[in-house]
This record gives sequence, C-alpha cells and structure tokens, in this order.
Amino acid sequence: MALENPVETAGAPLGNVICVANQKGGVGKTTTTVSVAASLAKLGVRVLVVDLDPQGNASTGLGCRLDEGDASTYGVLVDGQDAVEAIRETDVPGLALLPASLDLAGAEVELVPAFSRELRLRRALEQTRTSYDLVLIDCPPSLGLLTINALVASHQVMVPIQCEYYALEGLSQLLRTVELVSDNLNTDLELGGVVLTMYDGRTNLAQQVVDEVRAYFGDRAFETVIPRTVRLSEAPSFGQPITTFDPASRGARAYDRLAAEMVERLDLAPADIDPSPLDRLLADDDLERDGTPAAIRGSGPDEEVQP
Ligand code: ADP
Ligand code: MG
Repeated sequence: MALENPVETAGAPLGNVICVANQKGGVGKTTTTVSVAASLAKLGVRVLVVDLDPQGNASTGLGCRLDEGDASTYGVLVDGQDAVEAIRETDVPGLALLPASLDLAGAEVELVPAFSRELRLRRALEQTRTSYDLVLIDCPPSLGLLTINALVASHQVMVPIQCEYYALEGLSQLLRTVELVSDNLNTDLELGGVVLTMYDGRTNLAQQVVDEVRAYFGDRAFETVIPRTVRLSEAPSFGQPITTFDPASRGARAYDRLAAEMVERLDLAPADIDPSPLDRLLADDDLERDGTPAAIRGSGPDEEVQP
C-alpha cells in the first residue's frame, strides 16, 4: 500500500521490538511468535506478545479468550485505549499478552482516515518500553495498515518461511514493504532474521528450500530449522504453547534453540540468566549433527506419535 504523507517519522527507538511478518497465511507466524515467546520467557526474558491478527490465534494459543468489551489491540489502535490496561498475564510466567479480537478486522478500514494512522501501535507501545526485554508482534497475513503499524513499531522484522514449494514467492513484495517503511517512517527497521518452518526431512524439496533460503539470506537465516510436527499443530487447541504442552517434543526443543539464538543475536541475556542453558541449547547436537540443518535429523515428521 502507499504510504501517504509521512508528516512525522516515528521518533525515539523502542528497544527490542520484533514483528513476525509474512503476508502469506499459514507459514508459521503465529506458531513461531507464541512458541519462541514462551521459550524466551523460560530463559528469563520478559516478553510481551502483541496479537495484531484479527483471527486472534496468538491470543487463543496462549489460552486467552476475550469477553465482549474487553480491552484489546483494536481499542488500543482505534480508540486510543491504554495498552498497559489491555495487557494481561498468561499462564506462562514472564510472558504477557496484548490480545486481539475479531473487531480488529475493522481497524484496517477504520484507521484509513485517521491521524498518524501508521504510528498508532508504536505510540501505544511507548508506555511498555521499560516493562519488557522484548516485544513480539504477530502480524496478520497481509501487507495492510495493521502490518504497516507493526513494521513502524519494530526495530526488526522476523520472517517465517515455510519449507514448501513457492516458499519464496511474495517475499520480494514483503521486503519492498520493509524498505518502504524503513525509508519513510522508521529508519530503525531492519530485517532481523528468517526462520525456516515446517521442515519435513523426508522430502528433497524441503532441503532445496533450506538451501535456497540460506543462499539468499546468508546468516540472516537462523541456524535453527523448525520441523513439521503434529504436536506443534495440536498445542493451540489446548491454549498452550508447545513448551508447556509437550516440552520434550522436537518442536519445543527447536523453538528453545531458536530462542537461544535470538538471545545471542539480540544480546538479550537478562542479568540473572545463567549462560549455561544457552550454551546447552545452542549445542543441542541432537538438533544439529552431521551438518544437517537443526531439528531435522531422523525420519518422519512425527516421531512423537507414541508407539
Ligand atoms: P500463520 O500465523 O503464518 O498463518 P500458523 O502459525 O497459524 O501460520 O500455522 C498455520 C498452521 O500450521 C496452523 O494450523 C499451525 O498449527 C500449523 N503449524 C505451524 N507450524 C507447524 C509445524 N512446525 N509443524 C506442524 N504444523 C505447524
Ligand atoms: Mg497467524
């Protein structure tokens, strides 16, 4: 979409704010946001998840159901409600949530004539700056005003790419949008990292996508590759992140490792965090033996299926 009249740029940097974006649906944005947020919280990082998708999958995935009239991202963006009042704790210690409801779908349209419409989220999150070490924003599957708000509010964008045919299709459009935002509205914005999701080690295609993405993005691509597993797709219906739903599963361990990579890259380690769990996670050689991308050795996608 066109960015009209960027009369003001975004202002002071926000600290660690990362939006998880890809205009394609079903690539693992929400699963990555929820899972890695829970893994980071486990490491002692204070995390806020902002659900910016009207579908509210990150909210339900974290066990949050809104009642009529509850404060949510809609009210924060459209009615100028206080973000701090809309934020709630989740069952995961150290992980807070700014939830979304279906009425957020209207925001895409209602914000069009609004003043500073691209800066709404950024302004709203300013009050949360000191309360969290990291804010993760789960974007909707579009490049509309909601995603623009997320890009303007973030210092990095994290892009999940599904290890499937057509994986790279549409990426140039996303990267162009990121560039447009960083040129016009938020000079702090950069491409933070690309995470490969739903890897199925039995197919050559998945490996080809991994190779292609690594060739293109170099070390912007995270080492950790997220495997396709049934447990990861089951967790949301129990309102739990994979780290609580099945902490020993391959999916949980992959997200733990991704979290450790993020802690290193962002230099996030909170003062009281013991570095040894990070070293252990990064060296999880079950996830990375013989140079195979992480988390994918072994056979089928669902070894968790119990005998
Ligand atoms: P997005 O937010 O990009 O639309 P989701 O995270 O909601 O994508 O994932 C789309 C669907 O795929 C969901 O049903 C989710 O449970 C499932 N899914 C996501 N990641 C995995 C995975 N690694 N293995 C198996 N299923 C997955
Ligand atoms: Mg989603």
